[in-house]
Amino acid sequence: MRICLIGEVLFVDNPLKYHFTWDLLGDLTKGRPNLGPLIRLEVYRLMMFTLRDTLEREVGTGASDRIFYHSGNLAGQELYRHVIKDAPNLPAFVNAVQEAMKSLNIGIFRVEKADPEKGVFVFTVSEDVDCSGLPELGYGVCTYDEGFISGLMESFTGKKFRVKEVDCWCTGDRTCRFTVDRIE
Ligand SMILES: [Zn+2]
Repeated sequence: MRICLIGEVLFVDNPLKYHFTWDLLGDLTKGRPNLGPLIRLEVYRLMMFTLRDTLEREVGTGASDRIFYHSGNLAGQELYRHVIKDAPNLPAFVNAVQEAMKSLNIGIFRVEKADPEKGVFVFTVSEDVDCSGLPELGYGVCTYDEGFISGLMESFTGKKFRVKEVDCWCTGDRTCRFTVDRIE
């Protein structure tokens, strides 16, 4: 095993003990015959924000943000591969993302601006799983969502994207707004 430091993020070469595969989501019909696939949103947020607290203490704010972003990016890629699967064009992609995010109760996804030529987009997510209803903090908290959207866009286009949350429930807005820019 080889461990290297890129920026402030530790990368460990394969074989990883915790390498993600879609199988890790499990057989929910078999495994949860009585409780089913749903848990309370508080439990998801309890895990997310305690994990973030611990990461920040262990590796610092910048590195924990990058870990959240990269994790979200991986989730976006995996969701594209296993749920969206293939989108022939932008309207089909947007439609499939909307459907997936609604059916999985992630949030209500909308496109505010799309310029595919320039690779510039603005997306919004309302009733976002990560932040809707949180206290106003003066900063956005949806770093995982930034990565998630970048992973979806990169899987769809084959290009790299930088995603930044510019409005969030935690900045006093009632929808999360993301600028999405292709990296040339
Ligand atoms: Zn947000």
